[in-house]
Amino acid sequence: MLQSVNPHNNELIQSYTEHTSLDVARILNASRQCFTSYSRTNKHERSALLQKVSAILLDKIDTYAPLMALEMGKPILQSRAEIEKCAWVCRYYAENGPAFLEDEIVTTDAVKSYIAFQPLGIILAVMPWNFPFWQVFRFAAPTLMAGNTAVLKHASNVCGCALAIENIFREAGFPEDVFRTILVPGKQVAEIIAHPYIKAVSLTGSSNAGISVAAAAGRYLKKCVLELGGSDPYIILEDADIEAAADTCATARLINGGQSCIAAKRFIVHKNIYDEFVHLFAACMKSKKMGNPMDPANYLGPQARVDLRDELHMQTIKTIKEGAKVKVGGDILGVTGAYYPPTVLVDVEDTMTAFNEELFGPVAPVIKAENEAHAVELANKSVFGLGAAVFTRDIERGEIIAKEMINAGSCFVNSFVKSDPRLPFGGINESGYGRELSYPGIREFVNIKTIYIK
Ligand code: NAP
Repeated sequence: MLQSVNPHNNELIQSYTEHTSLDVARILNASRQCFTSYSRTNKHERSALLQKVSAILLDKIDTYAPLMALEMGKPILQSRAEIEKCAWVCRYYAENGPAFLEDEIVTTDAVKSYIAFQPLGIILAVMPWNFPFWQVFRFAAPTLMAGNTAVLKHASNVCGCALAIENIFREAGFPEDVFRTILVPGKQVAEIIAHPYIKAVSLTGSSNAGISVAAAAGRYLKKCVLELGGSDPYIILEDADIEAAADTCATARLINGGQSCIAAKRFIVHKNIYDEFVHLFAACMKSKKMGNPMDPANYLGPQARVDLRDELHMQTIKTIKEGAKVKVGGDILGVTGAYYPPTVLVDVEDTMTAFNEELFGPVAPVIKAENEAHAVELANKSVFGLGAAVFTRDIERGEIIAKEMINAGSCFVNSFVKSDPRLPFGGINESGYGRELSYPGIREFVNIKTIYIK
């Protein structure tokens, strides 16, 4: 049984019977059959269907947004924004997908030679609970636009969202088996990757899940895209607008209760402005209201599960034992639910747990840097490489640091890191490989085929 539990009050919402191996085999068969006809549909037909998906998401925002708030505690206003972003990514690929998939003529010694982009077959998506709609739609929109079919294995605690998403594609008029959800736990994923009908796999999740998915994909020679964890550094230089930086940093740390791969996770501050930054940042962190995610007044809901909240608390306690000081928060409140308060840890060193591990919740370690070079060195001192940000009034210097000096899949200047359908998204090092969104995203799951005519 897979269970959805409301993290606000720990009450069971619903239990779901897991699919058996036979059920999964039937679903893969159906998806395979569907692929033979769906892959031949015209890309403009597929584009029209994606526009319908976009419209359904917006029409039923009042159904989908509370579902996320209920199953994983996302504050309702952020849940609504997530649904709107899903509608956007569907529109984006509906409008741009046909051009991204156009043949590209290349002049050679042939009469005609070109690159064609053709679908691969069934693509498996293994997705996390933290953005239960967005992670799925940013995968599904380009994948279906390219003519593939998709099978979703969502995180076990958001089965309600997984089934709702499957229905959206049907309701939009996509053939019945173009997008299917399977209800299975993570440990069964390797077996599914091995199935000959699965042509590739996309995983968004932790490094551990990445290691097992990559191992299974490697064993069966299947392509995989891995969007894994991060510990995004935010560098605040001496000449930064400190007030604006403190405000942006607090937002970047607390969005989605701090449970975002691209949340700000290490705050590296020039020593000359350290005290002022800490003072302003702590005030911003403290000011964000926490409570029932259904109440639009709350910026923070509970963490998605009690076990995840407890793991975060252990990392905090460990860092304090290693010598960090608590400026704000750090206590598990005596309330029901998976709540964890906004927390600021100061005097954090690069040897400590909070510096070296991903903190997937509202805990902010602040680290002092001697100078710009030291700040960059600290920023790059991580096994991850997902996002990063730098704050400075010298825009040109900021751009050089962002482009030339920081090792990450994306680096923002004077802004928090966010995904945007028009820009590629992904990481380097242990944050994974491959890209989602923009045109590189739609090129991940296609056969980039050479045609040569003499
Ligand atoms: P998770 O435990 O890795 O789960 C993610 C998905 O992988 C779930 O569907 C899970 O299924 C499945 N899974 C777990 N163990 C697996 C295994 N050994 N083999 C195959 N599949 C497995 O991660 P999470 O706690 O849900 O999400 C948090 C992590 O995701 C963080 O590290 C975060 O940074 C990362 N993330 C990255 C991005 C990005 O774009 N780079 C975006 C969002 C989140 P079950 O639920 O059934 O275990």
